[in-house]
Amino acid sequence: CGIVGYVGDNKSVQVLMGGLRRLEYRGYDSAGIAVIDGEGTLNTAKRAGKLAVLAAELKANPINNGNTGIGHTRWATHGAPNDLNAHPHLGDNGKLALIHNGIIENFSVLKDELLAEGFTFESETDTEVAAILLGREYQRVGDLGDAFRAVVSRLDGAFTLLAVHQDQPGIVVGARRNSPLVIGLGDGENFLGSDVAAFVEYTRRAVAIGQDQIVTITPDLVTVTDFAGNAVEVEEFDIAWDA
Ligand code: GLU
Repeated sequence: CGIVGYVGDNKSVQVLMGGLRRLEYRGYDSAGIAVIDGEGTLNTAKRAGKLAVLAAELKANPINNGNTGIGHTRWATHGAPNDLNAHPHLGDNGKLALIHNGIIENFSVLKDELLAEGFTFESETDTEVAAILLGREYQRVGDLGDAFRAVVSRLDGAFTLLAVHQDQPGIVVGARRNSPLVIGLGDGENFLGSDVAAFVEYTRRAVAIGQDQIVTITPDLVTVTDFAGNAVEVEEFDIAWDA
């Protein structure tokens, strides 16, 4: 179970796959990535099995690369480790991609609410409920950060969440509760990771996200708020790493 997010000048696919490789030591059963390409289209690839399976899939069927993306390794808790249950999960008619480490305890109540509204699901995961909720909220408010602020307080349990929306290229939004999330500060690029291993290849400057906080990264800016939207002071630290 690992999470990586990227926005900057580099090609996301390589940054994300490299980050996931460095998180492999944590164990996982599936992997996937989502990238917003230069035309503002969201592309995803996901596979059960080792990262090598996803890498082979990307070689056989390359996705359009781009400067914004998220990557995930899954340790299944809800739903078998298969291709459909692998992350990312989509919302807002395929325009939003979400990845998640942890467990959303109240997912079945939320899923019933969404099913009653006519939403359909492709997976058995708790995660897809959050993806659909975020997509529904994005349609109302038109901003991924605001959509997060409306949705995360409804989720019980443990989560590190990252999402991208193709109508807001150049932005990755994340949130955490009872599960870790760290920012990597670059020069004209920024990173998110479930631990610093995700981005230590690129930067040694990091910021830990506190409990119940939401972060938005762009290539030049990092913004952290609490779940209510109040700005939070962040403190930078240097990553000590022998590699
Ligand atoms: N609960 C989610 C799932 O089963 C995320 C698991 C994880 O932490 O990777 O898909």
